[in-house]
Amino acid sequence: MHIKENIQRFKNILNDESVRLIAVSKTHPPELVLKAYEEGVKDFGENKVQEMVEKFEALPKDIRWHMIGHLQRNKVKYIASFVHMIHSVESERLLQEIEKQGQKAGRVIDCLLQVHIAREESKFGLSEAELLELLQGPTLASMRYVRICGLMGMATNTDNGDVIRQEFRQLKALFEHIKTLPPQPNVEMEQLSMGMSSDYTIALEEGSTIVRVGSAIFGQR
Ligand SMILES: *Cc1c(COP(=O)(O)O)cnc(C)c1O
Repeated sequence: MHIKENIQRFKNILNDESVRLIAVSKTHPPELVLKAYEEGVKDFGENKVQEMVEKFEALPKDIRWHMIGHLQRNKVKYIASFVHMIHSVESERLLQEIEKQGQKAGRVIDCLLQVHIAREESKFGLSEAELLELLQGPTLASMRYVRICGLMGMATNTDNGDVIRQEFRQLKALFEHIKTLPPQPNVEMEQLSMGMSSDYTIALEEGSTIVRVGSAIFGQR
C-alpha cells in the first residue's frame, strides 16, 4: 500500500484545477483512513450508513463524511447530525426524509442530486425529466433543511473512453442548463461530483469539481 504516494499524486493533479478529492474509504479499516488523514485528506466517502457511523465515532471530528452510496430513508436519521454531504439523493421521498432529519438535528444538510447517466440498468439515479421536475417543483422550494449543491453521476463501467466521456459531457450540459433556470432559494449549482479511480481523468477534462477516488488511493478492495 502506498497511500502517501497516491495521495501526493492526486494533490498534484487536482491542485491546479481546484477540484476536491474525496477519498473513498468504504470497506477499509479506520487505521487506513487515519493514514490518509495524516497526509492532509479531510474528505472521505462511504456507501454504507453503519460503516460511516462507526468510522465517524472512531476518527477525528474534523473529517468531512460524504455519503456516496444508495441511501435508505429509514437510515437517514443515523447520519443527519454529522454528514457533510449526501451525493446520492435520487428521489423526492428521500429528500423529504433528509429535510425531516435535518430539522430534528437543527442543521441544513448539503445534498447532490444523483443523475442516471450510465447505459447500464443497474445504476441508481434520477432521469433528466425527474431531475428537472424535482428542481422546479413546490416540494423542494418549501424545504428549509436541505441545500442542493449540485449533481452527481456515475459513468458506465466500460473500457470505452468515448462512452464515458459522452456521459460526463451530458451531465455537465445538464448542470449548466440548470444554472439558467429561475433561481430557487435552496439550490446552488456549484458542485459536479463525477469521476472515480478508473475514469477521473476524463471527468476532470469534462468539468468535474469533485472526484471520488477509492482503489487508486487505498488499493483494491
Ligand atoms: C466505490 C465508489 C467510488 C470509488 O470507486 P473506485 O473505483 O474505488 O475509485 C466512487 N463513487 C461511488 C458512488 C462508489 O460507490
